Amino acid sequence: MTPPGSISNQHLECGLYVVATPIGNLMDMTFRAVDVLRQADLIACEDTRVTGKLLKHFGIKTPMISYNDHNGPKVRPRLISDMKTGKIIAIVSDAGTPLISDPGFKLVSGCADEGVKVIPVPGASAFLASLVVSALPTDRVLFVGFLPSKQKARQDCLESLAGIDATLVFYESGPRLAAALAALSMYLGDRPATVARELTKLYEEVTRGTLSDLVVSYEKSVRPKGELVIIVGPPTELEEMSSQDIDEALLKALNTMTVRDAAATVATLTRLAKRSIYARALELKATQSNGH
Ligand code: SAM
Repeated sequence: MTPPGSISNQHLECGLYVVATPIGNLMDMTFRAVDVLRQADLIACEDTRVTGKLLKHFGIKTPMISYNDHNGPKVRPRLISDMKTGKIIAIVSDAGTPLISDPGFKLVSGCADEGVKVIPVPGASAFLASLVVSALPTDRVLFVGFLPSKQKARQDCLESLAGIDATLVFYESGPRLAAALAALSMYLGDRPATVARELTKLYEEVTRGTLSDLVVSYEKSVRPKGELVIIVGPPTELEEMSSQDIDEALLKALNTMTVRDAAATVATLTRLAKRSIYARALELKATQSNGH
């Protein structure tokens, strides 16, 4: 095995190396990542200042080029043509695995279209690091990444995920955590969930509970700082609900929500047809308005 600090004798084929870098703790850099970044002709990175610090730490002197969604259309053809003429190019992101809620997808698909070899150099990713400490099922998992920030798009996204029988993984930032948890709880129901914050860093914190527990605890706490992942367990088996239970859930939801949102929430929780729940919500609302 080649320790970081020395160059291996392993000959690298030309092509694109998709190289994972640490998500906090520099000790998570792999020996192979150091070797590949050292031997590469060029490193495509999101931010040359961020990657520059990492390269300095490991004594890597390979030139860098900024590669992101803005300059991608201009830079990509050049990178692909360089690799076709025998160059070794590595792509890294600011932290973790490129392409996972980070740039790189179009470069990899461009390489595939042009017959350029793509080689993975696996390592850290907040996705897997958070999943494995979540204590939630890992046999069937859907990576969602960042939720849309616009209200309607967020609602549509969560409604489309509500019936999926899998653990769901969401990326989020500290300041947006409370709002994200409230939306998850509203559209997915009260499932077991975990918030994994600042993984591999000094203030690493893993908080487990149900979505409603987490809403309450993060509403009260000072806004958490830093980066975090929310992992939500699959929908639990439903006990059959009586029409009285459904009415109670609807009346509770109608206290704080519009008829449409209350019906959507209860339909998600009960997994009953939205149309019939909406009709019942309208009836209950009318009864409430008539003062009954
Ligand atoms: N490509 C990266 C990866 O493989 O994890 C993710 C990049 S994405 C732009 C950044 C998001 O990843 C953050 O908002 C957060 O959700 C998550 N993240 C990154 N580092 C993290 C850490 N140390 N602890 C928890 N979440 C982290």
